[in-house]
Amino acid sequence: MATSAGVFSDDIAIDLGTANTLVHVAGRGIIIDEPSVVAVRLRNGTREVLEVGAKAKLMLGRTPDSIETIRPMRDGVIADFIATEAMLRQFIRRARSSLGLRKPRILICVPAGATPVERRAVYETAVAAGGRKVWLIEEPVAAALGADLPIDEPSGQMVVDVGGGTTDIAVLSLGGVIQARSLRVAGNAMDEAIIRFIRRNHQLLVGESAAEKIKIEAGTASALPNGRQADIHIRGRDLRQGRQKSIVLGPHDIADALDDPIDQMAEFIQRALEDLPPDVSTDICERGIHLTGGGALLHRLDYELGRRTGVPFLVVDAPLQCVVRGTARVLASIKEREHLLINP
Ligand code: ADP
Ligand code: MG
Repeated sequence: MATSAGVFSDDIAIDLGTANTLVHVAGRGIIIDEPSVVAVRLRNGTREVLEVGAKAKLMLGRTPDSIETIRPMRDGVIADFIATEAMLRQFIRRARSSLGLRKPRILICVPAGATPVERRAVYETAVAAGGRKVWLIEEPVAAALGADLPIDEPSGQMVVDVGGGTTDIAVLSLGGVIQARSLRVAGNAMDEAIIRFIRRNHQLLVGESAAEKIKIEAGTASALPNGRQADIHIRGRDLRQGRQKSIVLGPHDIADALDDPIDQMAEFIQRALEDLPPDVSTDICERGIHLTGGGALLHRLDYELGRRTGVPFLVVDAPLQCVVRGTARVLASIKEREHLLINP
């Protein structure tokens, strides 16, 4: 595929997320959008990778003892280095197969809280997987570009990216990064809060995927009148009798359950605002904070964060794809955007 510059492009942009990994190939668009899951077979103390991505997720919670499904980035930034590497390698291989034999240039984004060791591991893996040149960028910085924010202007812009494992904040002005930080409370913590709520109030045990489904289909951050009305019926195992039973939850219940993780996110955002130079935080309070990532899709999260922080929130278009879009954009003008990159 020829680019506007007339040369053959071989650029790969990767959003290595704790919940989902997206891969964009220049000239082709997003070619991979799959959960960050790896299925491995345990044999004589070694692990053999069976599937990664969507096929591995289908196996989640339904495997025999010899097969294990791993979310390698779930709780930390990289909780399982070897599985993360296997996943990244496989996704790069798939992207490369659509490029022919040429070695690609790769830009990967990592959560803002990634440690030097974690960054290095991601970098080395991409080099080993055939990257001719590999760069790293922080996820919320990429999100700011993906959201089309006027980051080159002399006014502060704040992005809050709510993913699976982490909530990441970036503040940009005059084309540079003023602040980038990460909190390990996001979508997964909301699922866990729903599990805890149902266990505590209904003595019912529900699994993680059921909790995520409840959050997506019936969840709300704020149960105001004329909001979500639907009740949701939930089946699970009764903790005392061990029998299957079902209960009904309304929007108020889920908003209650989510109160704690949302409060932690609001406090984190508040602290980030307080740590900024006053002029920058004034800009942000006037223009609003841009919400990206899958968590931005939680019903009324923008409203509730706005209420708790006193700053308006705006949900960007297609929040799940914002980071990979921005990563691809940075890669397309890497010379001018070099100062946004981080050292591996
Ligand atoms: P990451 O960047 O960490 O991979 P994503 O940006 O892909 O994360 O977002 C994944 C998170 O978004 C998951 O916790 C998922 O449950 C949540 N999510 C996706 N869609 C919705 C929705 N409609 N409502 C609430 N949460 C959602
Ligand atoms: Mg993300």
